[in-house]
Amino acid sequence: MLNEKYEIIANELKATFPNSTVLTEEPMKGHTTFRIGGPADIYIDLDFDDITPVIDYLKKTDIPFTVIGNGSNLLVSDDGVEGVVLALGKKAGKIEIADTKVVAQAGALLSTVANVAAEAGLTGLEFASGIPGTLGGAVYMNAGAYGGEIKDVIEAVTVYTPDFKKKILTADDLQLSYRHSLLMEEEGYVTEVVLRLQKGDKAEIKARIEEIKNQRVEKQPLNFPSAGSTFKRPTGYFAGKLIDDAGLRGYSVGDAQVSEKHCGFVINKGNATAHDVLQLMQDVDEKVYEKFGVHLTPEVRIIGRNIH
Ligand SMILES: Cc1cc2nc3c(=O)[nH]c(=O)nc-3n(C[C@H](O)[C@H](O)[C@H](O)COP(=O)(O)OP(=O)(O)OC[C@H]3O[C@@H](n4cnc5c(N)ncnc54)[C@H](O)[C@@H]3O)c2cc1C
Repeated sequence: MLNEKYEIIANELKATFPNSTVLTEEPMKGHTTFRIGGPADIYIDLDFDDITPVIDYLKKTDIPFTVIGNGSNLLVSDDGVEGVVLALGKKAGKIEIADTKVVAQAGALLSTVANVAAEAGLTGLEFASGIPGTLGGAVYMNAGAYGGEIKDVIEAVTVYTPDFKKKILTADDLQLSYRHSLLMEEEGYVTEVVLRLQKGDKAEIKARIEEIKNQRVEKQPLNFPSAGSTFKRPTGYFAGKLIDDAGLRGYSVGDAQVSEKHCGFVINKGNATAHDVLQLMQDVDEKVYEKFGVHLTPEVRIIGRNIH
């Protein structure tokens, strides 16, 4: 049962921000690619124009809130998320092309941005076409694949800091490195991103996107829910290979399983809980450490009640 304070706040938010969708006790398993997660007390699919006034409002209420994108790198607690989950998705996903630049709101999906860029004959974002996240999530994570990283194509990122300063930051300012950004240490919300691409051959760009898609279908367990690579790549190793060499291909806890197809992925075979996934991650880390003396650190972001 939602407490009275949250009930009142949800009603106020609904009345004040009709362009955003405000839901209460919303199961997060419907908003994560892992298909795992208990209810968010309040879940808001934010309209772009509501981002700053909603955050401003929440700051005054003292209610905790978490900004997410497409939930493709999240493991959410079975006990759900305290306070408000602010999702930047379709309602904050406008994309514009200006010569060789792409100006997009944080909720735009990477696949859509890559396709719009391809259609405009702009090259440089093909590497990201198969990453199932938003631009905001990609900046936060410095998402990368196939030899590219989002930091390579960032011209400028609009970030709101918790004290409500709007800042325009570069990739250097954001200290983007392998699956790391300054936003992991200093709170800030990405609202818009300008990407700098190059003119290219439309047919070649589309062919490269298709090639990457086929490679993903061939190598990754895309027919099961997951959050992509569970662990980061330890320096000098590949997490998937270490896990495989430790004999853990197919290792399961409940419905959570080290993918048989790609040991770097943990998949949800049906009704896996966050608890199952965490137990599995701990077991895998312990066994890999026992065998190779290397610790694995999570790439997935773990959020929610009673999970830290
Ligand atoms: C099948 C599959 C394949 C994948 N392949 C890759 C891959 O090749 N390379 C790769 O790097 N990743 C990959 N991922 C992981 C994931 O898609 C990326 O990390 C992606 O960038 C996450 O974006 P998101 O919008 O889903 O963010 P979410 O998962 O919603 O959030 C991730 C983190 O970013 C923060 N965040 C999200 N939006 C914002 C914002 N606007 N402002 C501030 N913080 C924000 C959240 O608080 C959270 O901490 C894969 C995932 C899956 C399921």
